[in-house]
Amino acid sequence: MKRLVILGGGTAGTMVANKLRAALGKHELHITVVDRDDNHHYQPGYLFMPFGIYNTSDIVRSRHRFIDDGIDLVLTEIDHVDPTYRVVHLADGRTLSYDVLVIATGVSPRPDATPGMLGKLWGQSIHEFYSLPGAQALTEAMRRFRGGRMVVHITEMPIKCPVAPMEFTFLADDWLRKHGIRDRTELTYVTPLDGAFTKPVASRELATALVDRRIGLETDFAVEHIDNDTRELVSFDGRRIGFDLLVTVPLNMGADYIARSGLGDELNLVPCDQHTMVSLAHPEIHVLGDAGTLQTSKAGSVAHFAVDVFVHNFLDDFNGRPATHGFDGHANCFIESGNGKGMLLDFNYTTEPFTGDFPLPVVGPFKLLKETRLNHLGKLAFRWIYWNLLLRGRPIPMIPTTMSLAGKRVEKDVTPAGTGMPTATAPSSPAPAPRPAMPKPTKPSPSPRPAAAKPAPVTAPAGTKPAAGYSDRPGVDSTAEVVLPAPIVPKF
Ligand SMILES: Cc1cc2nc3c(=O)[nH]c(=O)nc-3n(C[C@H](O)[C@H](O)[C@H](O)COP(=O)(O)OP(=O)(O)OC[C@H]3O[C@@H](n4cnc5c(N)ncnc54)[C@H](O)[C@@H]3O)c2cc1C
Repeated sequence: MKRLVILGGGTAGTMVANKLRAALGKHELHITVVDRDDNHHYQPGYLFMPFGIYNTSDIVRSRHRFIDDGIDLVLTEIDHVDPTYRVVHLADGRTLSYDVLVIATGVSPRPDATPGMLGKLWGQSIHEFYSLPGAQALTEAMRRFRGGRMVVHITEMPIKCPVAPMEFTFLADDWLRKHGIRDRTELTYVTPLDGAFTKPVASRELATALVDRRIGLETDFAVEHIDNDTRELVSFDGRRIGFDLLVTVPLNMGADYIARSGLGDELNLVPCDQHTMVSLAHPEIHVLGDAGTLQTSKAGSVAHFAVDVFVHNFLDDFNGRPATHGFDGHANCFIESGNGKGMLLDFNYTTEPFTGDFPLPVVGPFKLLKETRLNHLGKLAFRWIYWNLLLRGRPIPMIPTTMSLAGKRVEKDVTPAGTGMPTATAPSSPAPAPRPAMPKPTKPSPSPRPAAAKPAPVTAPAGTKPAAGYSDRPGVDSTAEVVLPAPIVPKF
């Protein structure tokens, strides 16, 4: 019997386990899911917590409830993978052998990667909402906020849900108005990108939405450190942005065990094929969800569509047929814009987000890149869809795996992101200087867990050839010396 081991029982891991269990009997395929704990988080809900819309009980459920019968769920930390012998080593000393491995351990915020982020202001005036404790602490900080300089900041791309910081900014603007302190607050959005967003049409529409709300936009901002004494973000090119409340999205990185296994790049993301999600180094390893290097958004919707493709190909392979399905990079994301409205983005590797109707031309009912009440309701409905359809591996009506051009107003020759749009001035920031080459980054502080011996870099097993384009690069283990050896190129 074939053994499938799935690392990570979050969005992608749960979906793929349930879909394959439904398709193949227990005597055909043995499925094991490994995760560190029994708490499944609905991460899009973190965004709403600081504004009192959701609380912890709305977004955390027992993982067991969502993993179907006939799937082994192992709750412990993953220590490392030995791809040569096809064995997963767990932190409690157990091992799991596999024929096929799925890596679905996502990415997490790493405030320790930016000097000064974890300084004396951390948890006081510096907050994040990409983890449950972060969102809980920010909820208290928002309650205490009485006006001043509020800065929403992205450290570096890629991050999961790249629209979430923009959504936070819109919701904060709305929340400040409702609490009567918007006039006393200077609100600024600070991004390492050269526009409000990477894709030209979305960048233009979102920059307009920022200007309409009198929200400052500071682009090309590569943070070098945070000065806790002066309460300023400081960029590599010397710009300084003062804050009274900083809501930052720290660097997002894959899990440390990926570095210890020699499987990742400088952000501990596993290099994988853009269409099949197969590891470029090891053909029996597949990467689903945020953990890989797909050149599309890191989002639950992307995980969902990529899992569909993977399952088709897995079943073809299982039944001795050639795998024929390819992932097109489809992403579908609602953007909360405040005041009970939202926008919608739908795009893939080759088609950027455009305006128009979704999913059907003219009738919609959703509007692409336009603020509507229905888009907002779609976003709120997503939580129910997540728990009841998505995780259980059930189809979501009207949302195809492959992106469709139907209803999209395709624009040709659009202005590149960040040009042609008014840019509001950020507090205490001089005119932006050209962005320099990224200097050698700092080392994140050591992981609290005892260091595991770092295995020698793993090469492809005998008889397998790494795919074209793959090159072995050092990973980042927070217990090891080498950290972020090269500039990280912003990408969507
Ligand atoms: C604030 C916020 C808002 C978002 N909004 C949206 C949205 O509106 N729409 C959307 O589509 N997406 C959204 N996302 C993104 C979405 O939540 C992620 O893209 C999705 O959860 C990725 O799924 P995954 O399975 O790759 O990773 P995850 O769901 O993060 O699962 C990874 C799992 O691996 C486990 N794990 C990691 N390391 C180890 C280890 N060493 N040992 C054992 N277990 C381990 C973790 O415990 C976790 O359960 C949002 C994310 C955030 C943070």
